[in-house]
Amino acid sequence: MSSRAKTEYRYEKLTWPEINDAIELGKVCIVPCGSVEQHGPHLPLDVDIVCPQGIAYGAGRKIAEKMLVLPPVWYGYTGHVMDFPGTINTNYTTFMEQVLDITKSLAYHGFKKIVLLNGHGSNMPNLDLVSRRACLETDAECVLAAWWRFLTVDPEFLPHWRESKFPGGCAHACELETSLYLYLDGDNVRTDQIESGDISFNLEGNPFHWCDLFGASPTNLISWTSTYSDSGVLGEAELATAEKGKEVYDEAVKQLARFVTWFKDRPKDQRKLRHRKAPTMAMPWGQQSIDAEPTRGDAPKVNGKKNGKKVTARK
Ligand SMILES: [Zn+2]
Repeated sequence: MSSRAKTEYRYEKLTWPEINDAIELGKVCIVPCGSVEQHGPHLPLDVDIVCPQGIAYGAGRKIAEKMLVLPPVWYGYTGHVMDFPGTINTNYTTFMEQVLDITKSLAYHGFKKIVLLNGHGSNMPNLDLVSRRACLETDAECVLAAWWRFLTVDPEFLPHWRESKFPGGCAHACELETSLYLYLDGDNVRTDQIESGDISFNLEGNPFHWCDLFGASPTNLISWTSTYSDSGVLGEAELATAEKGKEVYDEAVKQLARFVTWFKDRPKDQRKLRHRKAPTMAMPWGQQSIDAEPTRGDAPKVNGKKNGKKVTARK
């Protein structure tokens, strides 16, 4: 195959015949998901796009033959940040339906391994449900990942890298996001405006309710950002450097590439119908019936039968 599909990692740069080649190569599709949102006085509104897209492109340059990066989903769920000018919220249903539609389009064409690479914390509960639904409503496997979580794969990395306090030093426009943005697009950081900011409820020092990108308190109270931050900076941005951003970039790119390599060739786990008497109606909620699953190759067998019908291998 001399197709560009082998060497190009940007989905939108392929032609439709090359998409057929990319499907044949079994490429993993990465969908960066972010938000247009305030990130304090020193960072632009596009931090949550620039970070996951930059890391996805980094992995794409390393292992182009294994993956494609889709155009990012720019607008996310950020209704709690609307007291800060510039933030663009999309209703959570709009957001979820849009991302789900992207996964369904990919699955329909033949891409069966999809990664939602998130860059915005408050997208997580929404994208968790999207990735689950994509697994149940298509025959593809869809994984949710947040770029910063790849920094926890090597347990040595963060303790060596992080200087800010826990909890609260790394949350938003913080030591982490500011460092990575300084590395990826330093010209657009207002370096004279960098100032650390506290999350006011973290300062209460109670064990129940606190916030950090790398941990979760036992309880969850997410209300308006303007109630717990004056500047919109949640963390120790003053500890950020471009050098630390490069370390974060290299580590996240390395681990994402490792993950894609593992995920790409991992055989899909097979369903088994446990009913004694086969269901007599189609699966509700738009979910896939076992019958609907395989479209080529051998169908999974359940005691020689699938949904009560005799199994015949389809080509
Ligand atoms: Zn952010």
